Amino acid sequence: MTTRRVNLNTESVDNYLKAIFTLGGPDEERVTSSALAERLGVAPASITNMLQKLAASASPLVEYERHRGVRLSLAGRRRALEIVRHHRLLEAFLYEVLDYPIEEVHDEAERLEHFISERFEERIATKLGHPKFDPHGHCIPEMDGRMPKQVSRPLTDIEQDGKFLVDSVSDQDPLLLKQLKAHGVTPGARLHFARPSQEEFVLRAGSNSKALRLSRTHAGTVRVRSAD
Ligand SMILES: [Zn+2]
Repeated sequence: MTTRRVNLNTESVDNYLKAIFTLGGPDEERVTSSALAERLGVAPASITNMLQKLAASASPLVEYERHRGVRLSLAGRRRALEIVRHHRLLEAFLYEVLDYPIEEVHDEAERLEHFISERFEERIATKLGHPKFDPHGHCIPEMDGRMPKQVSRPLTDIEQDGKFLVDSVSDQDPLLLKQLKAHGVTPGARLHFARPSQEEFVLRAGSNSKALRLSRTHAGTVRVRSAD
């Protein structure tokens, strides 16, 4: 049967589209091949190869120029949003209904997202009361692909000490997620943030929790918004 081969193909195309969408951030900036290579764990040569294919198809899924990086076409964006919706709804389902810990939902959703039907997706959405956010605090796109723009900043962009609300945390690093959770740093939590020097990122969630010091890389994965 050829179905399996078609599935695998689709699966890797979907992973590319999703990675470009996620790395591009809320402003949908162009994404470099090296950033994609790192995210997908694929050799840069294969990245170039795949991007050229995606850009050359009858209705191209990406706009790609070798030295300027890549961004999604309208068709590519639509498809990326669909797969992101699957992914984030699955994460919410695993977390809320099946009691998966937050650090485990991403990998599981990564496996399932390519295979669920539209019907299954709709059932999950209904069961959960059409949630707007996944457990990491990321917006779940609506059925028609609409998605409100999240106004938040990574901790690394904040120069002043102060109080903030945790907007979202990255879903990429299970160990870090576990550590953040242990310190009460989860979406919606109130945070006291201090930046004693350029390379020090100190946070405290709630009043009696222990202070948590993050590296620049880790601090960049926590996004916050102002507390008032
Ligand atoms: Zn995820």
